[in-house]
Amino acid sequence: MTDLLPSVPERQIRAAGARPRLLLFVCTFFLATAPALAGSIQLPERAPIPQPRPEASAEPSTTEPRPDALPSSERACREQLRKLDVVFREADDVAAEEGCSLPHPIEITQLSERIRLEPPATLECETALAAARFFQSAASDLARKHFKADLVAVRQASGYVCRPINGGKNLSEHAFGKALDIAGLAFSDETEIEVTQYGDGGEPAGFLKELRAAACGPFSTVLGPGTNADHEDHFHLDMKERRAPYCR
Ligand SMILES: [Zn+2]
Repeated sequence: MTDLLPSVPERQIRAAGARPRLLLFVCTFFLATAPALAGSIQLPERAPIPQPRPEASAEPSTTEPRPDALPSSERACREQLRKLDVVFREADDVAAEEGCSLPHPIEITQLSERIRLEPPATLECETALAAARFFQSAASDLARKHFKADLVAVRQASGYVCRPINGGKNLSEHAFGKALDIAGLAFSDETEIEVTQYGDGGEPAGFLKELRAAACGPFSTVLGPGTNADHEDHFHLDMKERRAPYCR
């Protein structure tokens, strides 16, 4: 009875024999149809050349403009700052809106090798130069006279700000980076004074009054305690173009 069915090895041989026949059929079909398939696919004569994306081909952006992008007056001013050991960097662009304008903003962190500007202020170069000269010379001399110490930090309250003069429509010199508000100073003997001490009497008040008087001239506008309610806690120093300094 067992002879009616093929033995297991026999079935395996038959199944194995079916595979080469199937492979032969597939190969024959492929060889017969491949030329036709190839003819139906439109291959380009040349491979397309990859095009760079627009942003990849643009000039790399940098906050440091090429030297020849700056007007010669601006380059000369920055050279003066470097000679005075002022520490500054190219500041972020200032949006020219509502009439505010600061085409070549710089951020000042040190008014000299030893005098920090805290926090750093964004200014136009000529104003930064006037501030560096004033605090390195007249203000430093007054620090030695009143405190027998060196000026080591100037605390500023505003540099560039796009805003009008308080209570008016005219733009403040802050809107052009030409004004610096001073709220306090620090000395090498760890003395710290604030402009709010202006009316207190004593050494800090004496220093502040002489500082204010000395700033009139190097700056064309000097305002402070007593000018109006807006200036009770700081000196406003600016470089507005005037025929004569305005110091109140
Ligand atoms: Zn001001």
